[in-house]
Amino acid sequence: KLHNTILELKGNIRVFCRVRPLLPNESGAVSYPKSGENIGRGIELMHNGQAYSFTFDKVFDHSASQEHVFIEISQLVQSALDGYKVCIFAYGQTGSGKTHTMMGNPELQDQKGMIPRSLEQIFQASQALNSQGWKYKMQASLLEIYNETIRDLLAVNRTSAHDGGSSKYIIKHDASGNTHVSDLTVVDVTSINEVSSLLRRAAQSRSVGRTHMNEESSRSHCVFTLRIFGVNEGTDQQVQGVLNLIDLAGSERLNKSGATGDRLKETQAINKSLSCLSDVIFSIAKKEEHVPFRNSKLTYLLQPCLGGDSKTLMFVNLSPEASSTGESICSLRFAARVN
Ligand code: ADP
Ligand code: MG
Repeated sequence: KLHNTILELKGNIRVFCRVRPLLPNESGAVSYPKSGENIGRGIELMHNGQAYSFTFDKVFDHSASQEHVFIEISQLVQSALDGYKVCIFAYGQTGSGKTHTMMGNPELQDQKGMIPRSLEQIFQASQALNSQGWKYKMQASLLEIYNETIRDLLAVNRTSAHDGGSSKYIIKHDASGNTHVSDLTVVDVTSINEVSSLLRRAAQSRSVGRTHMNEESSRSHCVFTLRIFGVNEGTDQQVQGVLNLIDLAGSERLNKSGATGDRLKETQAINKSLSCLSDVIFSIAKKEEHVPFRNSKLTYLLQPCLGGDSKTLMFVNLSPEASSTGESICSLRFAARVN
């Protein structure tokens, strides 16, 4: 049954919009999915007296739980076990709920995000397939792309991970579409507990590794990759799937006038890599011949997992705050372009 997963994908790219709840001391403006249900397809916003309306594959309102959201992506996650290459992105301005959606709090059952839930499902399902002769090997890696430089979040020695030396972390794709990043830590994982402790280790090394953690993490892309190698001992069938779960850098247009020096360089790097991602997904959706994968580290890293028969899902995360409406419209336009 697992191996007959049928996904109704328009061109293999889908967009889900998620509006987070108002936090204490915020005031709201977004009118939620038109249907008034916690999961719908339309979203409407008022901005400067004008109404904006968008339609996506799914729209989750503030009341949609992590579990509600995961139910809608679980088939897609499952397809990585069937040998598909899957990318799930979270796009949106800082504070819109990207990290909550992707990682959440892995220690709390109802707060767990898509990454811990996906891993649980993959391990459970792979064990269930043992009885049909399937044996799986899984490898995890976790990296960050900051200013077009890769950082290894699983490196044991964090100082070496921070040196950003140009000879480190060179991305290569082999003929069969496997990606190799030189010097990147790749960990064999055999159980959900092992992955959980990896995620904990990464979260710790992120927070102790730098002074302005929140600021910097909102300006970097965080890419979790699980490679899945399956062999059926009865039939000799083999599958190789990849699941990439990506918490993107904040999409906000930083105050251009105030940005100088390093900050300006950062802003340019983020804008460049997000617009490259949009260009790549857009040209894949339009089935264009030339897809500009090489224009950014992120798109080059993910090249084998975008396009072809791979599957892509983009979450566009929105803050309901009145003051975020302008940014929300930008995010929705970005998403509408790739959808
Ligand atoms: P981002 O990663 O996009 O900067 P976060 O995921 O850190 O945003 O979310 C910003 C704040 O909103 C955090 O305090 C987070 O816990 C909270 N939050 C985000 N989404 C939700 C949600 N669906 N339900 C409850 N709280 C949320
Ligand atoms: Mg975040």
